[in-house]
Amino acid sequence: MRLQSRNNEFSCHERALSKGPSQSSRFALNPGPGTLNLSWSQRKEFLMRRHICLPLTLALTLTLAAVNGVFAAGEDRNPLNHEIHDPDRPQPPVVDPGPAGPPVPAPSDAVVLFDGSGFDDWEAMDGSEAGWELVDGLMQVVPGAGDIRTKRTFGDIQLHVEFKTYPDSPGSGQSRSNSGVFIGPYEVQVLDSYENETYPDGMNASIYGQYPPLVNASRPPGEWQFYDIVYRAPEFDEDGEVARPARLTVFHNNVLVQDNEELVGPTSHRQRQSYSPHGDVPIRLQDHRDDPIHFRNIWLRELN
Ligand code: MG
Repeated sequence: MRLQSRNNEFSCHERALSKGPSQSSRFALNPGPGTLNLSWSQRKEFLMRRHICLPLTLALTLTLAAVNGVFAAGEDRNPLNHEIHDPDRPQPPVVDPGPAGPPVPAPSDAVVLFDGSGFDDWEAMDGSEAGWELVDGLMQVVPGAGDIRTKRTFGDIQLHVEFKTYPDSPGSGQSRSNSGVFIGPYEVQVLDSYENETYPDGMNASIYGQYPPLVNASRPPGEWQFYDIVYRAPEFDEDGEVARPARLTVFHNNVLVQDNEELVGPTSHRQRQSYSPHGDVPIRLQDHRDDPIHFRNIWLRELN
C-alpha cells in the first residue's frame, strides 16, 4: 500500500518509522525545509494506514507461520515419513509438569491391578509366577527376571500407571532406566529422559519407534511420574486386514503427550512390524535388564 502526496510517495514502512502527525490543520511529516503538506483527507488516510498497516502485516505473518507450523507438525507426526529411530527428528520441547504428588486414587469403577499388596494379578510371560520383587509396597524390576503381564486381558481401556526411574543409573541413552508399559504389542516407552537425550521416538512417553511425545514432561530420576493412557483397540476385517488402526492417547504427569495417534503396527525395535489380528490383550511391564525401577498404583477403567 502506498500513499500519494503532491510531491512524494511513501511506503507503509516509511510511515511506520516516521513520528506522528502534528495537530495543525496542515500535516507536517518532516518539519523544516521541505515540509510536506497533506490535505485533511490525505491525513486521515495516512493515520488509518499507519495504525492498520503494520499490525495487519504482523498478524498476517504470524498466521502464516502458525499455519506452516501446523502442517510441519502434521508431517513430522507421521511415522512413515521417518526412518525408525531417526536421531535427527527434533527433540520435543521440555515442559516442567510441576512437583510430584501422592498416588492418584482409583475411581470407583476401576479394575485395580496393583495396590502395593502383591502380584496376585500378574504373572511371568510363560505363565509362571512373576519374578519381580515387592519392596515397601512397590513393584521393583529385577533385571534379568523378564517382563511381567496381567493375568486378565482387556479391550479399550483408560490405564493409569505410576513409576519412578532409578536415581543412580550408570547408563545413558536407551540404557537409563528403560522399561515400558505395553498394551498388548503396543509400547509406551518408560525411560529416564530427564537431561538424557536419545532418539525421540524412543524417549520417555514415546510410542516406541513411531511417535515422539509432543513435549518432554519428564521428572528427574527418583521422582514419581505417571501415565494416563487411553487405548482404542484395532479392528480387523474378515480377511485379517486392519480395518481401523490401534489408537493411543497419553497424558504424562498430567501433560498431553500423545493425541489420539494411529499406530502403524505393533511397536518394535529397528524395523517396522505389520498388524496381526488380535482380540483382548494383557498389560505388560518391561524388564529391559538395566535398572531396578519402581512401579506403584496401577489401575484401569474398561471402556467397552
Ligand atoms: Mg522400553
